[in-house]
Amino acid sequence: MLEDRSALFMDRDGTLIVDYGYLGDPEKVELLPGVKEALTLLHQKHWMFFLLSNQSGVNRGFFTMKEVEVVNQRMVDLIGLGNNFFTEIRCAVGTPEAPCPYRKPSPKFILECLEKYRLNPKKCWMIGDRTTDVETGHNANINSILLTQEKLGTCTCPCCANFMEAYKVMTEQ
Ligand SMILES: [Mg+2]
Repeated sequence: MLEDRSALFMDRDGTLIVDYGYLGDPEKVELLPGVKEALTLLHQKHWMFFLLSNQSGVNRGFFTMKEVEVVNQRMVDLIGLGNNFFTEIRCAVGTPEAPCPYRKPSPKFILECLEKYRLNPKKCWMIGDRTTDVETGHNANINSILLTQEKLGTCTCPCCANFMEAYKVMTEQ
């Protein structure tokens, strides 16, 4: 039997929090507009949440994995839906030149979670602010949403200006 709940796989920088580029400082963590509201509503609908973030800054030596985890924890605190908000978090530390197996657009993390939690791909979404996020969702055969201020004619998935718009797209099915 497949899990009945829906699941949301999320990029971090530029999707949930302001993207300052190689963020290692928890003091700079700032939720983007609509994130807390949308996640609270999805949480009430018993959605499951996963974080998939490329953090090449670790392998580039800009910050440590421990610092990434401190930033993640600060974000979880600001979301305010409990310490177990994310079912799983995966930070891919490889660089474009030397990617690790989980680096987006690899679907490896999503595919592993689909199997581990017996998720229904039709009820799963990947959301992010880059085309690599959308490709990751496509590569895993789940739904995708691109967060962007621009209207991209070439986009093959829904484009939303903010997280509350995305919430409406994800829940109208
Ligand atoms: Mg991003």
